[in-house]
Amino acid sequence: MPTQPHVLFLYTGGTLGMQPKDNQPLEPAAAHRDLLTWVPELREYASIDIEILSNIDSSLMTPEIWISLASRIERAQEEKTHAGVVVIHGTDTLAFTSSALSFLLPGLSMPVVLTGSQRPLAVTRTDARNNVLGAVETALEGPHEVLVFFRERAYRGNRVTKMAISDFRAFTSPNFPALGNAGIAWEWNEELFWPSTCRPTMWGEIPDKLPKAPLVLPWLPGLDFSDLQPTLDLQWALIIEAFGSGNIPLPDNTREILSGFMERGGHVFIRSQVAKGQVALDMYAPGKELMQLGAVGALDMTREATVTKLMVMQGMGLDGDRVRYHMTQSLCGELTIN
Ligand code: ASP
Repeated sequence: MPTQPHVLFLYTGGTLGMQPKDNQPLEPAAAHRDLLTWVPELREYASIDIEILSNIDSSLMTPEIWISLASRIERAQEEKTHAGVVVIHGTDTLAFTSSALSFLLPGLSMPVVLTGSQRPLAVTRTDARNNVLGAVETALEGPHEVLVFFRERAYRGNRVTKMAISDFRAFTSPNFPALGNAGIAWEWNEELFWPSTCRPTMWGEIPDKLPKAPLVLPWLPGLDFSDLQPTLDLQWALIIEAFGSGNIPLPDNTREILSGFMERGGHVFIRSQVAKGQVALDMYAPGKELMQLGAVGALDMTREATVTKLMVMQGMGLDGDRVRYHMTQSLCGELTIN
């Protein structure tokens, strides 16, 4: 009998494994232990090894768990025992974890596929079964990158964002097409796979620790930036979610606060609060002024990719100039260079 490939399942929690109790909020339960009972077809694809790294609602996800996941995946790569990895994760912060893993593990030699579900595995009309099966197929046939499989689509992991609370299609990839589509037959967009020849060479080891998350500020008409000065004094980086192609008003006090923050070594990155499209700071006068002050545009990266890329670079100890430079370069397909 031909031997089956092995797929490593790393379980972190989320709705998939929760069990509804009468009128009670959904909480982590034990359904994940019975994954092979609920989805017996998994055995037809591969020999499944399940490890439980955490069992939490993903709103409680931490950078420490990202590091344990990345370290476990790195070990699996070295041991060469598994054809691919499936990470079961709650949808709330799944896109942060998939983005973080892509930056922690940029030189992957096998697919790492995150999935979860909108309804628990243990209820009728669950989307969990199809998502898990599609994730295993992706782990066996997909490109050697971090991916998210959800509702028939395989996406690049650092391009997705959660877009729907209750639709089964929970994720979108606003600035990059899906890598694969699981229709009657799979269709893969092979020309979009991240080429293994493009791995960043200057990248360091998985750090032991990541810094606290940077401050993300969606700008609003009427916002008084000076109110934020005390908060800003505690930050190492500020990501402004500006209007349109990267514009905010720059009265003197805002300009002074931003310049002072950068003079003290803080980073200022500008992304757009519009999901689709790319920041172009030189397109309008307000954006151009931000650029002249020293702020750097985050092109078309999602919020999740911008935040986690920055945290990983800071955790790896890259100096300020390198951090700013690499935020505008594609490390593993997270942004579009025109
Ligand atoms: N609150 C859940 C979680 O992210 C939602 C889900 O899994 O869909 O863990």
